[in-house]
Amino acid sequence: MPATATYQLLDGRACSDALKQRIAQEAAEVLAKRGRAPHLAAVLVGDDGASRTYVEAKVKACEAVGFRSSLIRLPASTTQQELIKQVQALNADADLDGFIVQLPLPDHLDADAVTLAIDPAKDVDGFHPVSLGNMVLGHDGFLPATPSGIVELLRHYGIATNGKHCVVVGRSNIVGTPMSILMSRNSDPGNCTVTLAHSRTRDLAAVTREADILIVAAGKPGLIGAAMVKQGAVVVDVGIHRVDDPSRKSGFRLLGDVRFEEVAPKCAWITPVPGGVGPMTIASLLLNTLKAASDVTRKLVN
Ligand code: NAD
Repeated sequence: MPATATYQLLDGRACSDALKQRIAQEAAEVLAKRGRAPHLAAVLVGDDGASRTYVEAKVKACEAVGFRSSLIRLPASTTQQELIKQVQALNADADLDGFIVQLPLPDHLDADAVTLAIDPAKDVDGFHPVSLGNMVLGHDGFLPATPSGIVELLRHYGIATNGKHCVVVGRSNIVGTPMSILMSRNSDPGNCTVTLAHSRTRDLAAVTREADILIVAAGKPGLIGAAMVKQGAVVVDVGIHRVDDPSRKSGFRLLGDVRFEEVAPKCAWITPVPGGVGPMTIASLLLNTLKAASDVTRKLVN
């Protein structure tokens, strides 16, 4: 029987706009309390086009909610020692609530060592082992932006997760692995039975077809087709890929890991690409920065 197109969109732009309104109100309160708006810095090493776009979007989002932002551009030739020095300077900068070092870094730089050098109190990307440890233990801390943005998106649309089978495809430290942990936590959204699939998973289609909630972060354009998805599933596509498209002014268009046109008709809910997970990642980063600023404010007030 042909599937009917009754799916609804998990609209990350609309959800992040709602979140940003709340963040802007709270940013104004932080400013009133301590005379300084929340302040986020971003470090960009080299001039990779996609990374530049992401960083610029983050800086623009800061301005829109009344944060201060600083963009620190370093040449691709920056050495590990110079980058660590920059990180240490930002750690020590009392005027700054949080900062990120945009990944991926040029090949000669060690991203793990750079992440480890970040003061966990300013780790608004949530990538430091202390942040990840707090997340695993369910303690207060900075959650990694993309997985926590997806949780917010599911919350915003009232997606029932309790007792559902969630399949996460991809086990990276910044998306897939923390996503699997957040979905299995005793919380709402959460309380899923989680399967974490990856590049060595046998018969991926058989696994993904079992998913009530399918979250795909494999970094493989069009990996998931209709035959891999259960009828009525909730599908979240984290993948972002630029493909050349001379018909567009930009010269490219964005594709996800999910073949939207064929998969959407089988879904109850699905994220678009763009306009799904991307805006939520940025909103989560703002939330973490607000949290960093609010924690400082609480310390000042108490
Ligand atoms: P990554 O390359 O670090 O990890 C990909 C994971 O997918 C790996 O764990 C690998 O085992 C798994 N994988 C690869 N091929 C597979 C296959 N054929 N079958 C099953 N599993 C497979 O990627 P990442 O950093 O987690 O990012 C994933 C995607 O999400 C990328 O397209 C990235 O650009 C995108 N991304 C988007 C946002 C956003 O804000 N929208 C944020 C972060 C990442």
